[in-house]
Amino acid sequence: MLKRIVIGYVSLSLASSITWADTSVEKRIVSEVKQLVPSSQQLLVDAVNINSGTMNFAGVQAVGVLFKQEYDKLGFETQWLDGSEFGRAGHLVATHLSKSHPESTKIMLIGHLDTVFAKDDDFQLAHQVGEGRIAGPGITDMKGGDVIMLAALQALHRVGLLTQLNVKVVLTGDEESSGRPLTLSKQALVEAGRWADIALGFEDADGDINTAVTARRGSVSWTLQSTGNAAHSSQIFTEKVGYGAIFELARILDGFRQTLSDTPLLTFNPGLIGGGTRLQVSDASTLESFGKRNVVAQIAMVKGGIRAASAEQLAEAKVKMLEIVSQHLPQTTASLTFDQGYPPMQHTPANQRLLEMYSQVSVDLGYKPITAVNPRNAGAADISFVAEYVDMAIDGMGLMGGGGHTKDEVADMQTFAQNIEKTAVLLYRLSTTPVRKAR
Ligand SMILES: [Zn+2]
Repeated sequence: MLKRIVIGYVSLSLASSITWADTSVEKRIVSEVKQLVPSSQQLLVDAVNINSGTMNFAGVQAVGVLFKQEYDKLGFETQWLDGSEFGRAGHLVATHLSKSHPESTKIMLIGHLDTVFAKDDDFQLAHQVGEGRIAGPGITDMKGGDVIMLAALQALHRVGLLTQLNVKVVLTGDEESSGRPLTLSKQALVEAGRWADIALGFEDADGDINTAVTARRGSVSWTLQSTGNAAHSSQIFTEKVGYGAIFELARILDGFRQTLSDTPLLTFNPGLIGGGTRLQVSDASTLESFGKRNVVAQIAMVKGGIRAASAEQLAEAKVKMLEIVSQHLPQTTASLTFDQGYPPMQHTPANQRLLEMYSQVSVDLGYKPITAVNPRNAGAADISFVAEYVDMAIDGMGLMGGGGHTKDEVADMQTFAQNIEKTAVLLYRLSTTPVRKAR
């Protein structure tokens, strides 16, 4: 209840915040950003050239050290949180608490150090691919965003404004493949979320500089397993032998498709399947099955994922899926299990107001307004674990480009300088907004 009242105050304060901003100060911020762009671009290339595939712990840590040094220079208190308890490299947390303005808005900035490109991937180094375009593994997802938030803070430092900021930076080492259990791997994010009033994410989102993310769908994995009676295939469909595990699995999957595929903002996908007489699960992405075409299948399995716009939508879908599973074909059984997964970042009026404030910054700096990304086009991300704890959150403030998660990942470097400017000015405006006073 208290949290709801606070949201009201936050929005009132933010609505009037633009009048608090001093345009001459903002001009100084922008001119500092322009001077910082070359060194920031060099830092970005250095970060990209260190392989930091999620499971290359030494590489993830090395990227962490690179950023830790920069935050140390800015006077942040930095901490490397070891990830051995959840099977990953760990996270970097950097905190700056204002002595002069202890009550100013608490802002959390979210990035990640890891990429999807493993140590033995062919795609390892940054290289220029044309005017203002640099290709590189993880350049937009999301080392670019990591450098954008740092450069914005460096610009504010140079203008002497960092002293009035309460800010916590969390750079995780396992965004692309979360450590388990999630309660441990996401603990640093959740703790910072509980501390913060506002969360800003620097993912590249849909790659469009004129959009940002106010809502992300949750993402959960599921496993469906069926069993049947092994017998000679000539006896299938008889009362004694029944339909076998593969027909049961096919019935269920088609039931999911027929019942749920029209639900707005809900998607689900079977991504891996196996079945036969024997089945072995080697790891999360590998099934090995053995069977004969003249033997009724004894076991079958499919692994998939489901994405939903809200916790309610996911719960409703689960009920329908379990109902479909329970209508077994004769002489078969089946079970469906869900993992914990990523919670949804729900669209809220407060997130919309933060987006409007960001859009106003963009327009005031001479750029285009910013609109919300359709949640259908936004994957799950670390901010999803934080959104429920803060008053306002947006994501997608990072370096734009295309080809994320592929060897064609390319950054549009024009968006680099622009988004550093926008971030720096937004942080300044948020810091001058008396959110805490309103409470
Ligand atoms: Zn990412």
